[in-house]
Amino acid sequence: MKIIDLRSDTVTLPSPEMRKAMAGARVGDDVYKEDPTVNELEALGADLTGKKASLFVASGTQSNLIALLCHCGRGDEYIVGMHAHAYKYEAGGAAVLGSIQPQPLVAQEDGTLDLTEVEKFIKPDDFHFARSRLLCLENTHNGLALPHEYFARAADFCKSRKLALHLDGARLFNAAAYTKYDAKEIAAHFDSVSICLSKGLGAPVGSLLCGTKEMIEKAKRWRKILGGGMRQAGILAAAGIYSLTHNISRLKEDHENCRLLAKELMSIDELKVEYPLNQTNMLFVTFPEGSEEIDRELQQYGIIVPPGKRKRLVTHLDIQREDIKLVGKKIKNTL
Ligand SMILES: *Cc1c(COP(=O)(O)O)cnc(C)c1O
Repeated sequence: MKIIDLRSDTVTLPSPEMRKAMAGARVGDDVYKEDPTVNELEALGADLTGKKASLFVASGTQSNLIALLCHCGRGDEYIVGMHAHAYKYEAGGAAVLGSIQPQPLVAQEDGTLDLTEVEKFIKPDDFHFARSRLLCLENTHNGLALPHEYFARAADFCKSRKLALHLDGARLFNAAAYTKYDAKEIAAHFDSVSICLSKGLGAPVGSLLCGTKEMIEKAKRWRKILGGGMRQAGILAAAGIYSLTHNISRLKEDHENCRLLAKELMSIDELKVEYPLNQTNMLFVTFPEGSEEIDRELQQYGIIVPPGKRKRLVTHLDIQREDIKLVGKKIKNTL
């Protein structure tokens, strides 16, 4: 039985072709900068985001943390969405390891942070306050592709307030595919960008932190401090190269499948489906009471959904169009 796992795009498994690329990868000691495959991946990451350099790191969490450590020092502050990954889902790393204080704000419905609201939370230069240093945005945010015109406004705003601007672009390529802007055109407005290889791009491990040469030099030191200096990491980097060269162009299929899933589920009276216009590969669906029983029944058909009444369903490269049809039918029958 085929497993249709809708919990996240992190559940994607490396394909046989990707595994072949990994097995055949040329490797060396990356701490000596001698792993040709890691070097190639980092050059590719810099090229795709239009940045001068990039660094291969273990995870998106590590990538965001290193970015925060590069932009902010002890007693500094970053302004961030209160449901953003870099605030809510990274175990307080910036505070624990960087003595960096977050200033979380409520995001708007389209996933942006209202800049007039951000303005109110920039601290005056006064020893009572932490020093506001950085604005951190997320794109996509809950699957929402942020409107392109916002980035130039945010960048101008940050420049005039002397804030750095970081993008948690875990799913930057989903945003690019949806808005039809190149990833480079989005990244251009940011001082640094983090991208995940292990989400919808299908690599088993890894993220890239992209920025200026000076920043990435600094980032290398922080990566070492965090225990993230890996040796023959080319085996993993080969999967990353494969994901960036083969799996970006197909992301739009995930978005089409998400749209189809939304359509299927909207036809079921018992469900409340949230599917705003700028949604990419995610869908929030509220199920009726008794969701545990529903989850168990769906599992018998190989359909895995997250627990709880309001569920986030995510499409990705291991889910095909006919799977979506099956999911629609089985959920309908189950209810
Ligand atoms: C997944 C994700 C990350 C990084 O997660 P890791 O599991 O640490 O790789 C960062 N930001 C966002 C928005 C994410 O969805």
